[in-house]
Amino acid sequence: MSEPASPRPRLPPLREVIARHKLSARRSLGQHFLLDLNLCARIARAAGNLGRTTVIEVGPGPGGLTRALLEAGAARVVAVERDGRCVAALAELAAAYGPRLEVVEGDALETDLAALGPAPRRIVANLPYNVATPLLIGWLKQITDFAGLTLMFQKEVADRLTARPWTKDFGRLSVMAQWLCAVRREFNVASTAFTPPPKVASTVVSLTPRPTPLAPADWTALETVTATAFGQRRKMLRKSLQRLDLDLESLGIDPTARAEELAVEQFCALARAYEERS
Ligand code: SAM
Repeated sequence: MSEPASPRPRLPPLREVIARHKLSARRSLGQHFLLDLNLCARIARAAGNLGRTTVIEVGPGPGGLTRALLEAGAARVVAVERDGRCVAALAELAAAYGPRLEVVEGDALETDLAALGPAPRRIVANLPYNVATPLLIGWLKQITDFAGLTLMFQKEVADRLTARPWTKDFGRLSVMAQWLCAVRREFNVASTAFTPPPKVASTVVSLTPRPTPLAPADWTALETVTATAFGQRRKMLRKSLQRLDLDLESLGIDPTARAEELAVEQFCALARAYEERS
């Protein structure tokens, strides 16, 4: 016989938590809170089956998404929050869910998220937009530690992450992310869904690590060639990549092409050639 489902804890409305703990939103911390629990549940659903998974949430704020993750059946949620006021506000939630929720006060940029719990681990977050890209780059560098990432970004960043070659948004971030992960746009979220509303629209993106990267390449070499090529994205590669002194034709790459016309695998070939030279 299956275990009876544990009753859903009675929790105060998020607006009450915000008022009681005086969580006036701080722009410096990228604070835009999601108070619509249906939307939070939709993000949790996009993260897939969370049973037997350590879910790592960055920036729980007043805890809307945290509640949704726990209600979706996450085995354990470890939430990393920089704002001590929010950590205090989450105490009630931690008391209601016991050991299934751990709140860690700290800066996610300086925290090794993989050390927070056993695999399989998923990161699920409505990210602070001012540090979203450096956070993602750090997680991509250790992507084998994670079973998946489900993240809310400002729409422009999501457009770059999911962009295909031959489009204006295809760039360094697209190459680095798609090299290591299958990247999927889940859904857009209007700025009015947040309190306070940000100036930009938002998009939830899922990144699922590939069993092996799209093609062999060294991270640093790939970063160097993509940064150099897209640094002058309107120029032909023979010009933009001149200082790397690579024989493009021997790699089957048209020297008159522009950076946005190359596939991820071709950037990997450039990275391997660059590494051999240096
Ligand atoms: N998850 C909440 C929600 O959806 O309502 C809050 C999301 S809000 C966009 C971003 C959260 O990240 C804030 O609670 C903020 O305090 C927190 N934060 C900002 N910078 C952080 C950092 N470096 N490390 C951890 N948390 C951070």
